[in-house]
Amino acid sequence: MFASMMQQPLLVSSLLAHAERHHGDQEIVSRRVEGDIHRYTYRAMAARTRQLANGIAALGVGPGGRVGTLAWNGYRHLELYYAVSGSGAVLHTLNPRLHPDQLVWIAEHADDEVLFFDLSFLPLVEAAAPRLGKVRAFVAMTDRAHMPASSTIKNLLCYEDLLSVQRSEFTWPTFDENTACSLCYTSGTTGNPKGALYSHRSTVLHTYAIALPDSLNCSASDTILPVVPMFHVNAWGLPYAACMVGAKLVLPGPFLDGRSLYELFESEGVTMSAGVPTVWQGLLAHVEANNLKFSTMRRTVIGGSACPPAMMTAFQQRFDVAVLHAWGMTELSPLGTACTLKPKHLALPEEERLAIQAKQGRPVFGIDMKIVDADGKELPHDGQAAGELLVRGPWVIQSYFKGEGGDPLVGGWFPTGDVATIDADGYMQITDRSKDVIKSGGEWIGSIELENIAMAHPGVAMAACIAARHPKWDERPLLIVVKKPGVELTSAELLKSFEGRIARWWMPDDVVFIEALPLGATGKVQKARLREQYRDHLVR
Ligand code: ADP
Repeated sequence: MFASMMQQPLLVSSLLAHAERHHGDQEIVSRRVEGDIHRYTYRAMAARTRQLANGIAALGVGPGGRVGTLAWNGYRHLELYYAVSGSGAVLHTLNPRLHPDQLVWIAEHADDEVLFFDLSFLPLVEAAAPRLGKVRAFVAMTDRAHMPASSTIKNLLCYEDLLSVQRSEFTWPTFDENTACSLCYTSGTTGNPKGALYSHRSTVLHTYAIALPDSLNCSASDTILPVVPMFHVNAWGLPYAACMVGAKLVLPGPFLDGRSLYELFESEGVTMSAGVPTVWQGLLAHVEANNLKFSTMRRTVIGGSACPPAMMTAFQQRFDVAVLHAWGMTELSPLGTACTLKPKHLALPEEERLAIQAKQGRPVFGIDMKIVDADGKELPHDGQAAGELLVRGPWVIQSYFKGEGGDPLVGGWFPTGDVATIDADGYMQITDRSKDVIKSGGEWIGSIELENIAMAHPGVAMAACIAARHPKWDERPLLIVVKKPGVELTSAELLKSFEGRIARWWMPDDVVFIEALPLGATGKVQKARLREQYRDHLVR
């Protein structure tokens, strides 16, 4: 028997309609590419978004049409999020940090018809434009006064001109909630990048999930500054959650250095932020060097790669900013787990609470997970057994865009490529990505734990642990370390700090000190590049 409830599709446009109606005077503040601050309200944003929806229609983008963006976190990018998806087209956020050849490949594969870009990417777009055969129009996200005097791009339009001739009346269409709304490509560390095509339904459900208190805990009383870029898995969904709950939104543009971020945190009263560990390093260094405090920041979400416990301690003990460790991936829209404590943990000693917080967390409702051994046999949730992590849920992909790579599922579950443990309380801990695992004499050594210990040393700024070839054990752990400026530190001194904290056979065989670790397009350490360079370090 069917129920007698309303059939109302879950649509992205309803998030904006809600924010406009119930939080119309709430602010959205952006640091523009030009360096100045722009501020307006959800009410004003909603009106401009409707103008933009008319503008996009005028460019001939119909239902399902792909609209690419190459843009920082800013209000015009936010308008595109809602105008494109809301009108039934597909927002495709491109990562400007990718190699230009890869960008062209992705935009062509996605069939992008129009490309919106921030002025900082003009040289990149000019170089790519001749190879972007499917793009009909290029729109610079700026006003007439800031348009380039000349450009090699033929169909170059101005964002504010596109809007100014349009009416702000536009009725958001209603359609099936399984319609595609946005498209994000994985970074493609192995093979070509693959697209995750999200639906309105999956996006709205994911938004509910991330806003929950034991999840990212977003509320109308928050001022949210997503440092995670809007081109990296939709800034982890925060642009949607901000509308759902009516939070003030602060968008930092291209200025992601410690000083600029700190200024914005303080001047706008930011209460919550989110980003990958590497961005927080710059912020912490700035705050520590200048003896500053956070006056409004209450918590920050750290994910994308493992958050070293040393970073958690710095935020929590020195600055009274709670760290929320979270795990996810492009194929999961991205959130899978968040690490909030249960009541029984609150009375634990600091050290033990930190050990729980170092885990990637419990699944948010909607995500189901299990770990399996090499034969696909399910492993116990005892916090010890480590195996490949598989997930399923309404915001997990069923297949990649255009069916690339065939059917990725194994018996209805998506294999994440991460190796993890799950404990009896449901906390999942990533020990490695399967391609980063170190196999020493047939046994696995988890590189993340070794990196965490290295980063807890006061002289270490960054550390990565990779598998180096070994004549006897096949592979052994090799630590690659960046020292803090001005610090004297030898391999022996650093390795001494590992003693008693790991099994003896986990001890890294050597330490290589370098100037900087190679970072990929989403700010994660590129271990594959380190392996290429140092693979033979121990057999030389
Ligand atoms: P890619 O890095 O391939 O672009 P994503 O940005 O989707 O893909 O990253 C997903 C991967 O990042 C996960 O599979 C996992 O390996 C890693 N990751 C994400 N969050 C965490 C975390 N909190 N701790 C450890 N690893 C993480």
